[in-house]
Parts: sequence; C-alpha cells; structure tokens
Amino acid sequence: MRLFTTVAGLRCYLKSVQKKQPVATDSAESTIGFVPTMGALHTGHLSLIERARQENQIVVVSIFVNPLQFGVNEDFGRYPRTLERDRALCEQAGVDVIFAPTVAEMATVPPIQTRVQPPAEMMSGLCGVVRPGHFEGVATIVTKFFNLVQPDRAYFGQKDAQQLAILQQVVRDLNLPVTIVPCPIVREPSGLALSSRNQYLSDEERIKASALYRGLSQAEKLFRSGERVSATLVQAVKQELEKVPSLQPEYIELVDPMTLKSLDTVTDEGLLALAARLGSTRLIDNTILRDRRPIIAIDGPAGAGKSTVARSVAKQLGLFYLDTGAMYRALTWFVLEAGVDLRDEPAVAELAHQCEIDFQTDTAIPVVLVNGQDVTQAIRTPEVTAHVSTIAAQAAVREALVKQQQSYGRRGGIVVDGRDIGTHVFPDAEVKIYLTASIQERARRRQLDLKSMGQPAANLADLEQAIFERDRKDSTRTISPLRKASDAIEIQSDAMSVADVLNTIVSLYQEKTASLSLDSLEI
Ligand code: AMP
Repeated sequence: MRLFTTVAGLRCYLKSVQKKQPVATDSAESTIGFVPTMGALHTGHLSLIERARQENQIVVVSIFVNPLQFGVNEDFGRYPRTLERDRALCEQAGVDVIFAPTVAEMATVPPIQTRVQPPAEMMSGLCGVVRPGHFEGVATIVTKFFNLVQPDRAYFGQKDAQQLAILQQVVRDLNLPVTIVPCPIVREPSGLALSSRNQYLSDEERIKASALYRGLSQAEKLFRSGERVSATLVQAVKQELEKVPSLQPEYIELVDPMTLKSLDTVTDEGLLALAARLGSTRLIDNTILRDRRPIIAIDGPAGAGKSTVARSVAKQLGLFYLDTGAMYRALTWFVLEAGVDLRDEPAVAELAHQCEIDFQTDTAIPVVLVNGQDVTQAIRTPEVTAHVSTIAAQAAVREALVKQQQSYGRRGGIVVDGRDIGTHVFPDAEVKIYLTASIQERARRRQLDLKSMGQPAANLADLEQAIFERDRKDSTRTISPLRKASDAIEIQSDAMSVADVLNTIVSLYQEKTASLSLDSLEI
C-alpha cells in the first residue's frame, strides 16, 4: 500500500498504474474505486472500502478533515485524527493508495477561490438549516478529489443521505465521469449508526443514542403496516425519542431521497431523516421507506441453472421474470435495424440511450417492446443471437441497460438472474441467492443438455476445461464480473434437482416476506 500526502505523488502514481493497463472491451482494464473519508475509520468506512475492493482493480481512500465543511462553531479542531491506525486498517482491507493531503496541499487555507454550488433547495433543508455552507464545502472538496483521483466509481454511505443526494445531483449536473455507489448504513448491535463522532459519546450516552434507531424502526414498522402519512410516521419517531429527554431532536423529516423535497405522504419511496443533539454531540441517522414488492436476485457461474430456476421461481410466486438477456437482444436488434456497425462503441452507446425497452406482462408470454414496437419474435432470430455477445460486452451498453433494469426494479416484484445482480444492479434486493454447482456437475449437466438437443457427444474433460475457463473469465472481467454478495445465500446444487432449488428459494422468499409482516405486527 502507498500513502501520498501531495498531489504530485498521487498524480505520478496514478499515471504509472494507468499506463500499464490495456484498454480493451471487457478485458482486464483497470478501474479505480474511490472512498473519500475524513479518517478515524470505523466499520462503516470499511464496508465502503470492501465494496470498492470487490468492484475495482485499484482502491484509493482519501483521508482529509475538510475545513470547508465545518462551521465556525463546529468541531473541526477536535475532530479525531488517527492516521496511523487508519493506515493499518486500510492496509488490512487491501487498499492500494491512501491520499492524505495537508490542508495547505488542498489549498483550503487560504480558502480556495472557486466553489461548487449545489442547488440551494437541496442544501437549505435537513442538516443545511444549522450547517450553512457545509454542503458547498463537501461538494467543492469532493469535486476536487474526483479531478485528482479520476475514479470510475466513488463510494458514499447512505448514512449521510443528504450529502449523497447532493453529490449525485452534482455528478449529474456537471456530467462528472464517475459512478456514485451508495452503500448501506452500518450499525452497532444496539442499532446506533457508526460514526467517527460516536467517539465523543460516553458509554451512557451511547446507550441513549440508540433511541434514534428505535425511533426510525418504529416508523418503518408503521410504514410496513400501511401508514403513508408523513406527519404520522414522523410522530412515531418523535414519541420514541421523547423517552430519552437528553436527546434533543433538531429535525425529523420525510423527504424524497433524490430531490430532498418534503413529502406529505410517501407514495413510492421516502427518506426519513433526523438529527439530534446529545450533550455536545450532534448525531444523524435515517432510513429509506420503500413501498415495493420484494426483488429476488439470483447470481452464479455459467451453467448453474440460474435462468431455468429464476423463471420457475417467478412463475411459482407470481412475480415477473426480468429477462435481462431479452434486453440485450432487444438492443442488438435495434442496433442491427439502425444499420450501425456493432463494434462502433460510441455509435452503439448513442443507440443504447435511445432504445427504451419495456415488457408487457399481461400476456402468457411477455411481450418485449422497443420504443413501443413489439419485437418479441424479432429478437429471437439467428442474426440477433449471433451478435448479442458483441453488444453485451460493451461498457456503455451495460451501463445503459443496468439503468433500465433498475428503473424497472423500482416497482419490485421481480426475479432477475445474472452475475452481478445482487452486488451491482440490485444491491438492496430482499432475497439474494448465489446459485452454484461444481465444475464437474456443470459439465455433466451440459453434456446431458447437448445430448438432449441431438448435438454431437462432447467429452466431459473438454467441457470441464471450458467451464473452468469461463469461470475464470467471468470472475475477472471488468464489466459485470461474477461476484457473490456478502449477504447472498449460497445454494450448492450438485445434489439438488431443479425442483429442490426452486423449493429452497421459494421458502427463503416466504420466510423473508413473513418476517417483514411479522415486524409490522409487533408495533
Ligand atoms: P466521513 O469520514 O464521516 O466523512 O465518512 C466517509 C464516508 O463514510 C461517507 O460516505 C459516509 O457516509 C460513510 N459512512 C460513515 N459512517 C457510515 C456508516 N455507519 N455506514 C456506512 N457508511 C458510513
């Protein structure tokens, strides 16, 4: 691991690693994952680093207590600075580079002249009320870091939900070439969200502070039982907080998670956010209230039977099988129709953003629509089959179609299979399955399949070698590499029939939905 304190050192390092990397579609092209922090690292930060480690070849962590984001009476002076300990934690977590510049190096003293100004209406509510200038300071320094590190992905905690929404807006508005990856809140067993500022709390205060999470949980339960009126949900939090008189709420609000606009009622999603003071410490926490049916994500290596299983699970549970393969076929058809060279990635990227794919699900066989046109048959031609892998291997295509999949998923009630559904496409899926089988078993199944299709008999050893190679390629590819989510349930299906796997997943789904409704009964 390297540690740089100067822009010159960091830039020189990044240039040297980038030069070594081949730039080729779906090959071992390196991506940079970036985790900006203020140090005093805890398990929350480490969860971001772990995610960045899983998804990128190079992981850069910045440690910088940014004076621009502290108000005059805030804790800039006493904010914990524990570089040596942070360094050891980063080393253990497999970080490649720590960038820990001085305040002078970041030109924040005297204050930098150019500022990034996020939308006033996103900064004026929630924490912005008592922290004027804070989000402008965050947006300015983060943009500066983006320019220095030039990451492909940057990881931010949902813990700072307002910061996350504002940075997403800045990235969209300025077309910054980075994908923001939101990461779930990590909590202590008591429910208290981890924070570097928890170090300010006494043991007694820590116990008291857990009331914040209990308050949010009360509102979550109420929401699950059908309550949608913001005032009632906020009141549920208030009531819980009132049980701890020393906890002084600053705000408890329900807003749209993207725009941060206040909500009177929650239709699809709401961000229930709060801040409270406990002694001299200011604490924040939040939860997303989401009204959607569950998503089942099934990942695993090729030949493990994912799509067969996913289709039967969907059928059995009355959910929709989101056929991502059909989406890649639909785009391939669209590109062929346009007469564009399939290898012309920029042209294909343009088309990918003009190709709106939809499914009509009220028919026995779902109808696939491209910009309203029925292409259900057209996407199954040998010509499309022959070209779909060329299209699917392009980064811009993946990005565009993942966005469409995610917008489809907003409604929930879907089963999706792939290689990175639970880690990348739907990291908040309610049920995540990693379906696998040994190479030998997958080779044996493949041999049977070929036989049943009347194809020439294939040698088992050759099939095993081909599957081994495919696994290696799938786990190391830059675009959508095969990954098992840390919260996925692994099903090793060597000794299981399709029906066994189906029953296992259906039971897991039923347990999950039962536990959700049980929660709501406990109020
Ligand atoms: P900070 O060092 O407080 O600026 O935080 C750096 C990053 O870690 C931000 O993206 C935070 O949202 C994230 N983070 C802080 N605490 C947590 C937590 N408990 N769970 C998940 N992410 C967190």
